[in-house]
Amino acid sequence: MKFNPAPMSRRRALGVAVNVVAALPVIALFSREAYAANNAALRKALQYQDTPKGDAKCANCVQFVPGAAATDKGKCKAIPNDDEISPNGWCAVFAAKPK
Ligand code: SF4
Repeated sequence: MKFNPAPMSRRRALGVAVNVVAALPVIALFSREAYAANNAALRKALQYQDTPKGDAKCANCVQFVPGAAATDKGKCKAIPNDDEISPNGWCAVFAAKPK
């Protein structure tokens, strides 16, 4: 069986383009949620929590990549594609910065 679609009219192509552009915010929202699910799995595997464990916290960990300000959320080299790591967080692979 051979698929031979009819050529798309200019008006139809414009309509498809408008619909695609209109759907972009929805696509971005779902992409972000899927991304967050991945983060959640990694966080769970590493037992991440948003609170410190004693003196151990992300801000004092070699894996932490700080945000714009010291109190802003940052990133973690051990949890790729995650930019919601709290400077006051902690996880099982905490490694203290050298003093
Ligand atoms: Fe925080 Fe763990 Fe990442 Fe260190 S490795 S910055 S403790 S999440």
